[in-house]
Amino acid sequence: MSQIETLPMPYAQSLVPTGLSAENLYEKCVALARNLWWSWHAEVINLFRDLDPIRWRQLDHNPIALLAEFTPERLEMRAAELVLYSRINQAYRRLKEYVSETPHWGRTHAGVLGSKPVAYFSLEFGVHESVPIYSGGLGVLSGDHIKSASGLGVPLVAIGLFYDQGYFKQHLDINGWQHEEYLDTKVENLPMEPALGLDRKPITVTIDTRSGKLLAKVWLMRVGRVNLYLLDCDVPSNSPEDRELTSRLYGGDNRTRIRQELVAGVGGVRALKALGISPGVYHLNEGHSSFATLEACRERMKDDGMSFDAALRDVAQHTVFTTHTPVPAGHDRFDKNLIEEHLGPLRDELGISLDQLMGIGRVEPQNDHESFCMTVLGLKLSRRANAVSNLHGHISRRMWAHLWPWRVEEEIPIGHITNGVHIQSWLAWQMQQLYDRYFPADWMQRMGEPEVWQTIHEIDPGELWETHYAMKNLLLAFVRRRVSRQCRRRGESDEAVEAARNILDPNVLTIGFGRRFATYKRAALVLTDPDWLSEIVGDRQRPLQIVFAGKAHPADEPGKQIIQRIANLRHDPRFAGRIAFVEDYDINVCRHMIQGVDVWLNNPRRPLEASGTSGQKAVLNGALNLSILDGWWAEACDGTNGFAIGKGTAHVDDRITDERDGRALQKVLTEEVIPLYYDRDIDGLPRHWIKRMMNSISSLAWRFSADRMVADYVRHAYLRAAGGESCEMNIK
Ligand SMILES: *Cc1c(COP(=O)(O)O)cnc(C)c1O
Repeated sequence: MSQIETLPMPYAQSLVPTGLSAENLYEKCVALARNLWWSWHAEVINLFRDLDPIRWRQLDHNPIALLAEFTPERLEMRAAELVLYSRINQAYRRLKEYVSETPHWGRTHAGVLGSKPVAYFSLEFGVHESVPIYSGGLGVLSGDHIKSASGLGVPLVAIGLFYDQGYFKQHLDINGWQHEEYLDTKVENLPMEPALGLDRKPITVTIDTRSGKLLAKVWLMRVGRVNLYLLDCDVPSNSPEDRELTSRLYGGDNRTRIRQELVAGVGGVRALKALGISPGVYHLNEGHSSFATLEACRERMKDDGMSFDAALRDVAQHTVFTTHTPVPAGHDRFDKNLIEEHLGPLRDELGISLDQLMGIGRVEPQNDHESFCMTVLGLKLSRRANAVSNLHGHISRRMWAHLWPWRVEEEIPIGHITNGVHIQSWLAWQMQQLYDRYFPADWMQRMGEPEVWQTIHEIDPGELWETHYAMKNLLLAFVRRRVSRQCRRRGESDEAVEAARNILDPNVLTIGFGRRFATYKRAALVLTDPDWLSEIVGDRQRPLQIVFAGKAHPADEPGKQIIQRIANLRHDPRFAGRIAFVEDYDINVCRHMIQGVDVWLNNPRRPLEASGTSGQKAVLNGALNLSILDGWWAEACDGTNGFAIGKGTAHVDDRITDERDGRALQKVLTEEVIPLYYDRDIDGLPRHWIKRMMNSISSLAWRFSADRMVADYVRHAYLRAAGGESCEMNIK
């Protein structure tokens, strides 16, 4: 195999299609596999799958690993057998065109960002299941953000960490208890290459701490037109302990945490410098990367001779901060010793005292009992801060009101931009085909326009239902395969494995619940009254079935207990065959679920779900949301496009709230969801249900898309920050 040519890419050159000069079929496939652009193009995914469907699945849909099992000769043979030539050539040509052009939207609306791109910092990125450097919603949001930035042509580079063991693989034992397994990811099987500096050499950044140097190398991963740079501490000059610093997501104690955040924030800014990129905007996605602002200050002082105060002001003007956490306990906090150990040398260069530095991370700068909070740093050192849904905006302004005691709540400078999802990544191929037939020809370029989605009402209801039914069957096949494999792995009897192959029924109303098993998400709310549930599930005329999936954080015992309780329902004859738990929730499991269920259930304890995005993915595929009025759903639900649980209130006593919401869930299921689903016309079609599916798609798909979200960030945050538009300091 000849090496694909790669050139160093300072930002200005990076839109030129480097790395794409393949001659033969094999090289073209490799080039396709090395830009994650493939992951949101069904025709390229189908191409890889067709090469070897079984290995494709076994290899976690990783095309690089798949191609490594082929010689160029064998690939040629396989391509000849399947007549793949034109498909491969066409896909390759499309990729080449894609990376070499700047879309109209970006040129028109974001052109001024030009050679000073947005630097988007996040500690996790969920782009595809084969690149396991995410744990949940925050990571998937970052992935969707950069995919949409790529699609719209927004000048943006992304910075994160490379975790070679990623997040854990989940297995349940025979008792339903969660176990975590960490696998080493093979770098050679990932679409990464060393990022090269202006001197065309691989970049290593060095960060001084009071306890020694910390080094990180930098990888480049291409996500369409966006370059994602990942810092990795596994370098020989680091101590053995530090080499493992970036092995795992959320793996360690507070010291590990601050060191990871130091690498991502301070190391990230240094990496950009070495790459020759000077960002016009720093976007901190959550407080984890807030240290970036301090390094950016240091740069300003050193390069432009600014005073510390002037640098602070300047950096804040160019920084956009997004907060995701509606509870005080959820924010990273570090004590004075950890701060001094890790930021001491940087502080020396900034010329400030430890008390001054601590003050920047505190609500009350002089309060020596207060620890250093990354969110406070982010809020103070940004001129534009935003929450991730309308409701979360209110909650965040109230939560941080004490940072601006001289202002009334409405004037607290935290706005909101509601999250959205990358449509091409989450829309089922079958659904896309259906849309292609009815929607305007250029609908894929106009997904942010409400009018485009109105066309859904012109689709033949029978056809929409059939498409949904086909996807539901694919989900059930997936669940049966997974659940029977889980049984076999646990060493259960042949009968149990066989029974697992036959669970669930495509004609039964199917609810999906898939997300992290954090306790506030209350996965077991539907089990508030198990006897009631058993009757509903076992109803002869109008039964119900539920597919669950989700991981609990390794240290979260209560979360694991909820998983255990749900997983063990399969031993209860009243629920057997009707309730399934799919292990190892990830992007792949999520995709299957949101594409195949009838109803997507979300019942967090309000207002703890800042936004939530999985329900938005479900919308695109015709599933109806059944959700507490929290996060995005509080602004999305209009009574005709899904179902609300309760009235959007919460009691101060959690037990009372849970009890109330549990009953509200029972009520809406029995009075609304089940009757509507089983109300069939003479053709067997649930007309009113289908109407609701259409309402959901037409009113929500465009509003909760990542294209709309990124466009909002450009218009309301990036452009103003890039202009360095001055306004009042958030710091006093
Ligand atoms: C979309 C997604 C999430 C976010 O789900 P929420 O319901 O918003 O918490 C989490 N994990 C994965 C794998 C996802 O794809």
